Amino acid sequence: FFSVYDVAIVGGGIVGLATARELVLRHSNLSFIVLEKEKELAKHQSGHNSGVIHSGIYYKPGSLKAKLCVRGASLSYEYCDKKGIPYKKCGKLIVAVEQEEIPRLKALYQRGQQNNVRDLKIIDAKEIQEREPYCRGLMAIDSPYTGIVDWRQVALTYAKEFQEVGGTVVTGFEVSDIKMVQESPEGSTDGMEHPIAIKNSKGEEVCSRYVLTCGGLYSDRLSQISGCSPEPRIVPFRGDYLILKPEKHYLVKGNIYPVPDPRFPFLGVHFTPRMDGSVWLGPNAVLAFKREGYNVYDFNANDFVDAISFSGLRKLLFRNILYGMGEMYRGIFISAQVKQLQRYIPEVTSNDVLRGPAGVRAQALDSDGNLVDDFVFDGGFGAIGSRVLHVRNAPSPAATSSLAIAEMIADEVETRFEL
Ligand SMILES: Cc1cc2nc3c(=O)[nH]c(=O)nc-3n(C[C@H](O)[C@H](O)[C@H](O)COP(=O)(O)OP(=O)(O)OC[C@H]3O[C@@H](n4cnc5c(N)ncnc54)[C@H](O)[C@@H]3O)c2cc1C
Repeated sequence: FFSVYDVAIVGGGIVGLATARELVLRHSNLSFIVLEKEKELAKHQSGHNSGVIHSGIYYKPGSLKAKLCVRGASLSYEYCDKKGIPYKKCGKLIVAVEQEEIPRLKALYQRGQQNNVRDLKIIDAKEIQEREPYCRGLMAIDSPYTGIVDWRQVALTYAKEFQEVGGTVVTGFEVSDIKMVQESPEGSTDGMEHPIAIKNSKGEEVCSRYVLTCGGLYSDRLSQISGCSPEPRIVPFRGDYLILKPEKHYLVKGNIYPVPDPRFPFLGVHFTPRMDGSVWLGPNAVLAFKREGYNVYDFNANDFVDAISFSGLRKLLFRNILYGMGEMYRGIFISAQVKQLQRYIPEVTSNDVLRGPAGVRAQALDSDGNLVDDFVFDGGFGAIGSRVLHVRNAPSPAATSSLAIAEMIADEVETRFEL
């Protein structure tokens, strides 16, 4: 690959790739490169998720999350149709199993209406059983517009399109330094066409006019190496899935979700059919001791010390100690996890499930221990600040929203960098 580009995009997950595609389609006269540390693209969050095309019910009306999800879902279906990527619009039920959940379910339905989610309706116990014969519930939100897809396949298709229209993708390039090249002893870079040097740990270098980082679980560290604030920090939360044994697949037709607990950012353990015909149950949410640690015993001393020395995480843990311990317990003992699932499908037993894969969510956290819920952009200060843009928080459902996020980031890039 050449070493000089107009825009370098660091991070080959679904957000970086969707944005790279959008930028090259808008600016075919400019040169773009995606730099990804792994040998393959979309290896982390974009390749380890529930595979749901969310319809946009949950998010606060007027928030970026709500707008981007609703637009992103419809763009995703259009894109999959255009590119021949298989998906299933298998729908979703959000099920209240206890009386006390019904007011929250109704409020959620109102939220979905305010967000203009298509075709939502409230259904009763009888209709729940018509849709999902093995599911028990008092009342549910029926969202037929929700679907499933393989988000990794979608991300790889963005990458293919990006390359077809002239973009360059380099894998195995772990960015370890981003800084302005110093032209003169005074540090002036005036007149330099490509004043930003992006280096990897092997000493290889790419120079660019502008840099965009979409680093997922490492978005805080990528921001920090270019001189930006370390906050919001990323705290990794692992989600373990169980898999339903094939002979029990008949128990689940579409997505079945709980009424989310408003105190937590995750949607709760759910039943999700996959594009390959399997059915995943989960994920839970436990603090991971390694940012890209997919196994229970994965540990990285640097990540661990980094996390526990952060006052924001300590405050969060202190406030949610019981919930956190409950999640860890359910992660270790399958029977405890199955008990949660039996609230929705009483026929599922511990003998019907196997331990499955896991994903790690990049959860942004501020120093007061508040979970950062919406998107965060940051440029930093000084000369480099006008040439670098960091996407610091692209939380779920960023896969569903990826095409809409890409439009928003491309607008931001155009304004900031005056492309
Ligand atoms: C368990 C789980 C379930 C989810 N379920 C859903 C769902 O059903 N539907 C949905 O819409 N969303 C879901 N999400 C959310 C969605 O998967 C993520 O929001 C989305 O994939 C984020 O994409 P990303 O590109 O920001 O991050 P990532 O996919 O993590 O990509 C970041 C990339 O940056 C690279 N990188 C990092 N540091 C460097 C460096 N120094 N140099 C070069 N490259 C670097 C990484 O290797 C990685 O490839 C889920 C997430 C998880 C974890």
